[in-house]
Amino acid sequence: MKIGVLDLQGSVTEHINMLKKIETVIPVRVKYKDQIERIDGLIIPGGESTTISKLLKSFDLMDILKKRIKRGMPIWGTCAGMILLAKKIDGSDNAHLKVMDIDVKRNAYGSQLDSFLIEDKIPDISKKSIPLVFIRAPYITNVSNDVKILKKVNEKIVAAKQKNILVTSFHPELTGNDCVHKYFIRNFFNNNFLL
Ligand code: GLN
Repeated sequence: MKIGVLDLQGSVTEHINMLKKIETVIPVRVKYKDQIERIDGLIIPGGESTTISKLLKSFDLMDILKKRIKRGMPIWGTCAGMILLAKKIDGSDNAHLKVMDIDVKRNAYGSQLDSFLIEDKIPDISKKSIPLVFIRAPYITNVSNDVKILKKVNEKIVAAKQKNILVTSFHPELTGNDCVHKYFIRNFFNNNFLL
């Protein structure tokens, strides 16, 4: 199975390295339209959402990506990736791909210096505590009825899914713990997300 990591800006190599550990996956860096047509699923890494959005436009990837996501291609956005997938960004009239029924608040915990690491369980993903790394992270402020909340930290939603779309405020690719990558690969393909 070919899983792409959007290779425009951000923690691309870290996601590729995590995917390399999963036997059934062939990880590929993607930045051109024809590559997006040939992948089975995609990860949008953390980084800076405004920058990634500008690059999506200059590489002419917005439409093809939206089309593939709407047709059911599994996609996971980490941190900036989550912001790019949201239909609404608090305090802004603009959003980017607008495919997931969530509102997000950018830089919701404050500045870079307010970044933090905790260890916690995510019942659907890991029964054991796993490291959750928040770097100038967003959280979700509102969800529609068919969005499933996967994790809250201090009452704030930091992981959720809707059909073929998974989002996390935090960065599993920076931790060495591959639970969330495995969860994405095991649960979002073969139409499992419809269950
Ligand atoms: N603060 C960044 C943004 O708003 C996201 C940070 C991250 O991806 N670690 O895009």
